[in-house]
Amino acid sequence: MKYQPIKNYVGEELIDGGTETLDILSPLDGSIISKVSLSTSEAIDKAVKTAREAFPSWSTTPIKERVQVFFKYRELLEKNIEELTQLVHEENGKTYDESKAEVLKSIELTEFACSMPQLIAGEILEVSKGVECRVEHFPLGVVASITPFNFPNMVPNWTIPNALVLGNCMIMKPSELVPISANRIAELLKEAGLPKGVFNVVHGSREAVEAICDNLGIDAVSFVGSTKVAKIVYKRASSNLKRVLALGGAKNHLIVLPDANTEMTASNVAASMSGCAGQRCMAASAMVGVGKVDHIVKQICEEAKKIVPGKNLGAVISKQAKERIENYITQAEKEGAKVLVDGRNYKVEGKENGFYVGPTVIDYVRPDMKIAKEEVFGPVLSIMRSDDLDKALEIENSSTYGNAAAVFTQSGGMARYVAERANAGMIGVNIGVPVPREPFSFGGWNESKFGVGDITGKSSIEFWTRIKKITTKWNPESRTNWMS
Ligand code: NAD
Repeated sequence: MKYQPIKNYVGEELIDGGTETLDILSPLDGSIISKVSLSTSEAIDKAVKTAREAFPSWSTTPIKERVQVFFKYRELLEKNIEELTQLVHEENGKTYDESKAEVLKSIELTEFACSMPQLIAGEILEVSKGVECRVEHFPLGVVASITPFNFPNMVPNWTIPNALVLGNCMIMKPSELVPISANRIAELLKEAGLPKGVFNVVHGSREAVEAICDNLGIDAVSFVGSTKVAKIVYKRASSNLKRVLALGGAKNHLIVLPDANTEMTASNVAASMSGCAGQRCMAASAMVGVGKVDHIVKQICEEAKKIVPGKNLGAVISKQAKERIENYITQAEKEGAKVLVDGRNYKVEGKENGFYVGPTVIDYVRPDMKIAKEEVFGPVLSIMRSDDLDKALEIENSSTYGNAAAVFTQSGGMARYVAERANAGMIGVNIGVPVPREPFSFGGWNESKFGVGDITGKSSIEFWTRIKKITTKWNPESRTNWMS
């Protein structure tokens, strides 16, 4: 095995989470690269105890000192970028370039956290004669961050820098399919000077997550993953009176109008559906073409044909994921949709055991088909047709999800019309992957997110802190009303 067996990282020690282990396969070629120990609730208890012990000192360290750790961490991410990139590439299966983009995004996220002292300065006002009220932010305590397989480096960094700079201690539970990057992040945080016990990693799957939701020593839980599990975590952790923010899955619609720039639209749509092998919560998996858009569909197919598995298209996470994606395509075809570009049964030479699905474009998908409604999470674009914009919006609005939506047009008026009416939290105008970069926050609507606020950017400050309102009076002579 290429990597040492992966254990929990608790108080700077590597310890087994339990006796059960899971093999870690590289999706690139199906080889076993390590194994991970799956945590029991006792292992979670130990990590929480360690984090609780670290909390009093870390939470009372001034923010200007806490942030110094993250200036160093940012440097270390940059210094180790090739190694971190290779790790993401191997454990997740996305291309090397996509893996590097992920680490670069982690650097941007850390830079945002480094600006936290500037953002968090409180408010102050004389609320009555001689009486001032001021607001201060306090950390919550020990927080948990549960993350999915699709961004082993970036999604952990959605939460780590902000939550820690704001004075919390953390238990991170990465996806058991990609646990290696999280331990490497822990080592870098140690090297950056983070005190022992402030950041801990526990590994495991369902049992570990349930133990996190039930553990009374954890004050807040952030979750990123599928809607099915987001609902479980949201309900279970909040029933244990924790603050919870749970981001779920997505079905993002791109509305393409006939006046859209053909080249730009085609390359954006193809990149959005196939980037990270379609395993992005921001992937465009459904397009609604309004009116005469055959010329754009033709160009999308040309673009899709330039995307080659094993070269500029990575692998999907597992054999089961490959089968699930291919079944969606087959079923859509049986129901009458037309497969224009077919990525089924793809083999990459020399990597025959890797989990590859080629880019796939399916036209004449109907809104009632399974492929039009469910999250496919593969490099597959379903094209639906509509004769007018309101009907296209009806299709988009009927989704139970609401992460992102985009419109492609050269008309500012049409773009505004769609942006106002689309039922999603992140909107793109001529952008296929409308990720709001820092300082703007990331988060969707409907069943793509449960809880208040967003997970990154300024909006995350509210989630990771609680505010204290301090009202002060010193001079008794300034008496004007009941307060003074
Ligand atoms: P997942 O829901 O299967 O797993 C996410 C986490 O939950 C993992 O840590 C996993 O160990 C744990 N888990 C899995 N099953 C569980 C169960 N039954 N009970 C308790 N915990 C469980 O998600 P995934 O397959 O790792 O990731 C892909 C999903 O994540 C997609 O749906 C994607 O859209 C979503 N995602 C959403 C966002 C967003 O910002 N909304 C970002 C990235 C990924």
